[in-house]
Amino acid sequence: MSRLHDARPLNPLALALLVALASGAAACSTTSAGTSAGGGAPGAAAATGAAPDSLPVAGGDEQAVNPALGDVDATLWTQVSAEFRGASIQAYRLARLRLEEALEDSSWTAAREQEEPYREKPPAVILDVDETVLDNSPYQARLIRRAGTYGPDTWGPWVREARAPAVPGALAFTRFAHRRGVRVFYVTNRDADLEEPTARNLERLGFPMADTLDVLLTEGDRPGWDGTKVARREHVAEDHRILLLVGDNLGDFTDEPQPGRWVRSEAVARPEDRPAREPRVGDRRWGRQWIVIPNPVYGSWEDAALEGAGELTPRELLRRKMRMTVPLESSRPGAPGG
Ligand SMILES: [Mg+2]
Repeated sequence: MSRLHDARPLNPLALALLVALASGAAACSTTSAGTSAGGGAPGAAAATGAAPDSLPVAGGDEQAVNPALGDVDATLWTQVSAEFRGASIQAYRLARLRLEEALEDSSWTAAREQEEPYREKPPAVILDVDETVLDNSPYQARLIRRAGTYGPDTWGPWVREARAPAVPGALAFTRFAHRRGVRVFYVTNRDADLEEPTARNLERLGFPMADTLDVLLTEGDRPGWDGTKVARREHVAEDHRILLLVGDNLGDFTDEPQPGRWVRSEAVARPEDRPAREPRVGDRRWGRQWIVIPNPVYGSWEDAALEGAGELTPRELLRRKMRMTVPLESSRPGAPGG
C-alpha cells in the first residue's frame, strides 16, 4: 500500500473534532484517554492500547489528538454504505464489458508503457491490490479505535494476518478474465517482504494466481521496481498486451503528477493566481482502458497538501487543505460537474 498517512499528523475532521471538543468540554478535557493523549506524539495511544471509544483530547496539543479520527467518515462509507458497494461492483461490471471490447480489438492497450509490436501478444490485465482487490478498511478501523497511525509497526502485522476481505466485484471480474484466457497481474506497492502473506490472502479469497509465473509484482522485488509502477507495467508489457488497468490511485495508471500541485506554492495560493487550465489526467481513458475504484480514505490526491507535512503543524495542514477546496467563484477547472 502506498500511503501517506504516516506523514499526516492530523486531518481536518480530526481538527474539527479537536476544536469542538476543546470548546465544549474544555473544563473536563481530562478524558479517559488523557494518559495516552498526553504523550504528545501521534500513535502513542496505539502503543498504550487506548480504549476504542476514547477520543484523546489534550489541552491545546494538536499532535496528541487521535490521528486516525479524520478517516472515520471515509472508512464508514466503504464499510457500511450500499453506495460504495454499488460503485465498486459497477466499476468491475464496466471492466468486464471493456475486457470483451479489448479482446476484439487488437490495437487496444491500456498502458502507456506498451510498445509496438504488441497486437499478437497474449492479453493481460493489471490490477492494483490495496483498495482495488483487497479491502483494508478493517485495518483502518483498527487505527481509529486504537488511535494508531499507518506505519510498518501496524501495517506489517495486518498484512501478515492475510485476512483482508475482497473489494466488491473484484473476485468476479478477475475470475471472469481468467476464464477468458486473460492473464491477471497484481501490481502493488506493498513491500517485497510482504509478498508471501499478500499472495496467501489473495489465494485464500480465490483470486486467480499462476503456478509458473510471478503475477504478484511488489515494490522493490527487483531493481528499479519503485513506487511509480512504471517499470512493472513495462515488465508485463514485454510479453503481454495490457488490456485494462484497474486501481484506486492515479499511480496505478500513470506516473503523471496529480493536478493541483499549484497549492504547494504559497505564491499561487490565491485562486486568481492559479493557472487558467490544468490538465485533466486520463480523461480519454477513464471508464475505457482505465477503471478506477473509489477510495475516499487515502491516495496521492493528498500529495499537494502533504508535501512537507513533516514540518507542518496540524493547523497548517488544515489551512492547506482548506485552500485546496474549490468554491464556485474559483476559476479552477475540473471542479465538480466538469
Ligand atoms: Mg491501491
